[in-house]
Amino acid sequence: MSLHDAGLSAWTRRDFVRAGVVAAGAAALGACAHRGMPPASVAADPASDLDDLARRVRGRFLRGGSSGYDEARKVWNLAYDRRPLAMVRAANVDDVRRCVEFARKHTVPVAIRGGGHSYAGYGVADGALQIDLGTFTTVRVDRDRRVASVGGGTRIRDLLAATLAAGLYTPMGGCGAVGVAGLTLAGGDTRGRGLYGTACDNLIGAQLVTADGDVRELGPGKDEDLYWAIRGGGGNFGVVTRLDFRLHPALPSYSAAFNIGWRDMAGALRAYGDLVRSAPDEVRAGFTVDPEAGGLATCGYQGDAAAAAVYLEKWKAAFRPVEARMFTSTPDPVGQVWETTPLAVEGAFIEDLSGDVVDVVARAAAEAQGVGQMLLGLSNGVVARIPMTATAYPLRGTGLSSLIAAAWEKPEARVRAERWVAETGAALRPWARRAYVNYLPPSAPERIREVYGVNYPRLARIKAQYDPANLFRANQNIQPAVGSGRPG
Ligand SMILES: Cc1cc2nc3c(=O)[nH]c(=O)nc-3n(C[C@H](O)[C@H](O)[C@H](O)COP(=O)(O)OP(=O)(O)OC[C@H]3O[C@@H](n4cnc5c(N)ncnc54)[C@H](O)[C@@H]3O)c2cc1C
Repeated sequence: MSLHDAGLSAWTRRDFVRAGVVAAGAAALGACAHRGMPPASVAADPASDLDDLARRVRGRFLRGGSSGYDEARKVWNLAYDRRPLAMVRAANVDDVRRCVEFARKHTVPVAIRGGGHSYAGYGVADGALQIDLGTFTTVRVDRDRRVASVGGGTRIRDLLAATLAAGLYTPMGGCGAVGVAGLTLAGGDTRGRGLYGTACDNLIGAQLVTADGDVRELGPGKDEDLYWAIRGGGGNFGVVTRLDFRLHPALPSYSAAFNIGWRDMAGALRAYGDLVRSAPDEVRAGFTVDPEAGGLATCGYQGDAAAAAVYLEKWKAAFRPVEARMFTSTPDPVGQVWETTPLAVEGAFIEDLSGDVVDVVARAAAEAQGVGQMLLGLSNGVVARIPMTATAYPLRGTGLSSLIAAAWEKPEARVRAERWVAETGAALRPWARRAYVNYLPPSAPERIREVYGVNYPRLARIKAQYDPANLFRANQNIQPAVGSGRPG
């Protein structure tokens, strides 16, 4: 369960805004100068080719000065104000190919926009050609085969509304407006992953337009390297125009929530750490530090009502005298969305909430008052048992996937928020070398390398083979491995 879990946490749009956070290192992507990257500026004058592209695509084409350009370049995280070279709202796969071919010819970076909810604002980049998948929203559910196929710009709410109508489910995040592709390609901090694996573990097929303009079908036995890489490696390998998901029975969730407040935060965190260490696969759990309300522990048990009642007694005993608030939810509240805001984030995957790290989290929580929010969501069961190298997604083994976030309304609140997020992330790092890549701020390549760990060298080799010029770099960038590009 993620701390985005609307069914289990008190996380609301107001929380984001009142939290007041900072965007750490909001460096414009166009200014990146990592090894292996072509300059963000255009290598050859593309003016006439750009005019040609505008004529040839069927979807909407916008560039600086066009009416609608400023509105279209906005993304969910208002901390990022970037100016792409042009934006194409692709009408079909041919449009995507034409854009990629233009970008390759002129070595223009590509920014891919799916649902526009990247915390780091990657759906838009300075000087880039943005390919907007906003019209790729078809959702098809095959109830007999238990497969859902969705377009590359589909939002979570549309996918889950269709699967739940058929009594089926696939693990997704808690905000209905988030893009299915942006979440799944990075892995997914999802609800239901203890029983079913996370989003990328249920991705059984995809259509991908690679930097050479090829349209490829990926899946078991088909383009295995790319299929491995897109399950965790993000938007580094091309534009995903379709995703196919394995579906599971939709189970009800029986939940308990405990309003801890600010009293004995360390004690409550220790109790939470003990409970989740041995939690069965059916459990979705989270601990939220709210900037005003303090600690909130939540536990949802998916499946049998009687087994849930027995299990939830353990939680009641652990948090006594704090009273439990009990509720039952359908598998997912898909209508929940959060309005746009400027926001700073950091991520940390804490393997075991015990010992000194409890005091570090409790200290950060005390400093979070009036500033920011921490969400420590349990990742266990099936997702934890899949071997580390089975897919590119590196967060295997049981742990707490943590989001450290702060929003701000007034510009003067930005510095304090940014500092709290960055300092909290740094304080946790000795216990959390890994993190969910979608929770990282735009940051140094070393951090991406560290997060992917043993999977990074293979990702870098695949990147060198399929995107040697690093056109797809408006993301948590995998640097192409030196000397392992495609022959010829
Ligand atoms: C309010 C909110 C709630 C969130 N809740 C959760 C949660 O519960 N669980 C969770 O795991 N994450 C959550 N996230 C994080 C989210 O997964 C990432 O921000 C993700 O990148 C959003 O995807 P998007 O398509 O909406 O974003 P976009 O900004 O459109 O895209 C971000 C990046 O994803 C890649 N990408 C997107 N679409 C494609 C595509 N079709 N082909 C190739 N690459 C693509 C590209 O690299 C792109 O730059 C949340 C974010 C927000 C703002």
